[in-house]
Amino acid sequence: MHKKLVATWVLLLALVCHAAPPKPMVTFTVDALKAPEKKEWAEKELKPALEGYAKNVIELLDGKGTKWTRGDIPLILETKDGVAWASGDKIYLSLKFVERNPKEVKGALVHEFAHVIQDYRPAPGRAEPYARAPGWLVEGIADWVRWVNYEGKAGAKSVDDMARGDPRHDASYRVSASFLAFVSRKYDRNFVMKLNKICREGKYDEEVWKKLTKKTREQLAEEWKRWLQKK
Ligand SMILES: [Zn+2]
Repeated sequence: MHKKLVATWVLLLALVCHAAPPKPMVTFTVDALKAPEKKEWAEKELKPALEGYAKNVIELLDGKGTKWTRGDIPLILETKDGVAWASGDKIYLSLKFVERNPKEVKGALVHEFAHVIQDYRPAPGRAEPYARAPGWLVEGIADWVRWVNYEGKAGAKSVDDMARGDPRHDASYRVSASFLAFVSRKYDRNFVMKLNKICREGKYDEEVWKKLTKKTREQLAEEWKRWLQKK
């Protein structure tokens, strides 16, 4: 083949490859069997937002090896009460919550997707409840993903503001997210990722705080409280 022709083909091929939109790491499929009138809205509004942010959640929680990152996550629209919840690889969203808090919906779904990627399972040979991380930590990590990372600067500020009113590091959700954000900033920016990996492997116990920061959980909580008061 003529050299110029080859060059043209190579250029064309490069252009075509470049023009193809990046394939999302995880896809979400809307299940609107219970509310068909909401299908279009969920596909236009929620699906692209989740697919666009999913890779960040996977990076934040080192979730590349989890089985949920190899496929499609069902996003099920529910008519019953509640907010949003995850079960295995399925995420459910209450349409009653959507009506009451339309601005909170995407953030709530990011929190649920974080639960999917947390992917905690029992340690070998241990009964499930003992292997699991405490509930406040499970919710704290999911809210750290949502408020400190996904919701940007205002979200990160909101967790500290909320914690100031109730500075118990194990108060769960946003208050615990503030605690985790503090420990990450002070000791190791990959702290939450490492802690989450330990939880995922079913190896969480009190020693992990010391292992990762050289401080006990109580010492870290005291430091965090003092920092909140000064801020
Ligand atoms: Zn949760």
